[in-house]
Amino acid sequence: MKLSPKISELIDSLKSLPGIGPKSAKRMALSLLSSNKEIGLLLSKSIEDAILNIQLCQKCYVLNDQELCEICNSANRNNNSICVVESTSDLYSIEETSEFDGRYFVLNGLLSPIDNIGAEELRIEKLLDVIEEFNSKEVILALNSTLEGEATAYFLLEKLKKKDVTVTRIAQGVPAGGDLNYVDNNTLRRAISFRTELK
Ligand code: ZN
Repeated sequence: MKLSPKISELIDSLKSLPGIGPKSAKRMALSLLSSNKEIGLLLSKSIEDAILNIQLCQKCYVLNDQELCEICNSANRNNNSICVVESTSDLYSIEETSEFDGRYFVLNGLLSPIDNIGAEELRIEKLLDVIEEFNSKEVILALNSTLEGEATAYFLLEKLKKKDVTVTRIAQGVPAGGDLNYVDNNTLRRAISFRTELK
């Protein structure tokens, strides 16, 4: 017996989410349709609510519920540094560390020809405007250590040369609590080349 087309449709929708494979999608769909119907209805309502009410901040492009997000609106942030991140989720990860009190700029993607993300999609002009507005002196590139992250970092570095800013990159290397025996060669290579002086 084949699955009903409506169930297959739900499985296909769930499968298109990042990190959800066909098996998990099937398990989730069947659970939402049987023992977890109420959760399913609540979920569909909150997804609709969020999609209709959440927008990109007009300045830093973080997902939030206002035209200008809380960080861009705040007078208590340090204007000297702007941290460039790939996504809203990366911005929240950095905020959770409480280590950074500057401004942000969310690229909403990394350069990736396969995914059709080119220079225009990264809104470089807008980043240059924000640097100018806050008169920032440092741009911190907090991008993933992947091929796309590297390509984007060097692309931004080139674009930022016309601005009077120092471009820095978050440190790459051995994770906190990491044992050198278990760190892969690439990471160790980076850790050595990005070494810092002990003070
Ligand atoms: Zn903002």
